[in-house]
Amino acid sequence: MQEPFQNTSPDAIAATPLIVPRPDHGISRANISENALKVLYRLKQENFQAHLVGGGVRDLLLGHEPKDFDVATDATPEEVRQVFRNCRLIGRRFRLAHVHFGREIIEVATFRGTTTSDGDENDRQMENGRILRDNTYGTIAEDALRRDFTVNALYYNIADFSLIDYADGLEDIKAGRLRLIGDPEQRYREDPVRMLRAVRFACKLGFTIEPQTEQPLFELAHLLADIAPARLFDELIKLFHSGYGLGVFEKLRQYGLFGELFPATEDCLAREDQGFPLTFVSRGLANTDKRLHEDKSVTPAFLFGVLLWEPVRQRFEEYLAGGEAANEAMFLAASEICARQHALVAIPKRFSLPMREIWSMQPRLEQRDGKRPQRLVTHPRFRAAYDFLVLRAESGEADPELAAWWTRFQEASGQERATMTEGGAKRRRRRPRRRKTGDTAGPGTEPTGVVERGG
Ligand code: ATP
Ligand code: MG
Repeated sequence: MQEPFQNTSPDAIAATPLIVPRPDHGISRANISENALKVLYRLKQENFQAHLVGGGVRDLLLGHEPKDFDVATDATPEEVRQVFRNCRLIGRRFRLAHVHFGREIIEVATFRGTTTSDGDENDRQMENGRILRDNTYGTIAEDALRRDFTVNALYYNIADFSLIDYADGLEDIKAGRLRLIGDPEQRYREDPVRMLRAVRFACKLGFTIEPQTEQPLFELAHLLADIAPARLFDELIKLFHSGYGLGVFEKLRQYGLFGELFPATEDCLAREDQGFPLTFVSRGLANTDKRLHEDKSVTPAFLFGVLLWEPVRQRFEEYLAGGEAANEAMFLAASEICARQHALVAIPKRFSLPMREIWSMQPRLEQRDGKRPQRLVTHPRFRAAYDFLVLRAESGEADPELAAWWTRFQEASGQERATMTEGGAKRRRRRPRRRKTGDTAGPGTEPTGVVERGG
């Protein structure tokens, strides 16, 4: 969803844009979704301005396949609704029209205009996410300069198929450069989520963040505390399920943004002396990236399970040492870490519940006697919990022999399974040896990171 663009200094508004005529740019209608074209043509027919804008134009210019197509117009949301039967208006603070074509949604945004700031009080309210005037409509020139990065502010005009560039976005695309429009610090303060967007686009596009756009990232991480936890969850999914999650993680840590979002995890990573917590997160993210590149399913339950595991594990060990039984220790540790995390990033229940199941199954996977293993493999979350264990073993935190045992158990026949679960009483509960590098040999199976069944 497009986010509010506010309060760019009027000085920044370029009076005359660069207009690149149809023969001089590489955007072809053949690469634009049919539905997006329908929306553009229909608006034009009704004598409105209609442009493709944002990530769609940017990605087409870079030769990438756009994730979605956004349209900008001078028609108000109500006017857009009158033109399209299959249209819904969404959002209160930032009103938008969604035109539905089966599963494809074309987002149509009305040009945003200049909002005149009345000073501090207004700015503060905006920092807290309470935007007073988010639906002031304006001209295309104003709209362009309220967008975040120059490369996201290019318009493809359906009237003559030209490209319109108010912010030197084309130059930045050619240079592989991510640059905020206007004064970077002011733009981050207006909407701190732009810091996360900077990291996401830098990783996804392989662009360098221009120094003035980059500098405030080292200093403004604390502003994320003011963002609604539900919005942060959405943004984190875009960041970590982009296919470039490992790079994103490294950059977020470099700027101190990760610690703001996952303070308990960052504490563990910052004082770790054994290597495996970092190895575990990195491997988990690399694995998710790989799955995404192979078009396999991924789920936030596994992702957040990985990101929060180390603080959960440490609290679990402390509760164990304090005399709690394993199940109870895990329950207490998970509840504690989840409660702290929830105040920052709201993980919806449909993901946090399976995430906690993945964790609570970790100690249960150590019990290999009698009927328990047979019951455990039929658990809906078994596959994810097993993948999680494999990841732990590969990072040097869990016993590789245990992971290998479960690999064999899944492949074994009924008779073999019975034999495997017989020797229980004699089997020692081996505590894994902690390794410096975390580079243990895996149990011979690639962890998949799957959680959804049948994925
Ligand atoms: P992608 O869809 O590939 O993730 P995108 O650039 O299209 O990237 P969207 O979130 O779909 O990103 O937003 C569409 C456009 O709306 C952006 O390109 C940008 O012009 C504008 N936009 C979105 N969020 C913001 C924001 N927080 N501040 C300013 N402009 C924004
Ligand atoms: Mg988009």
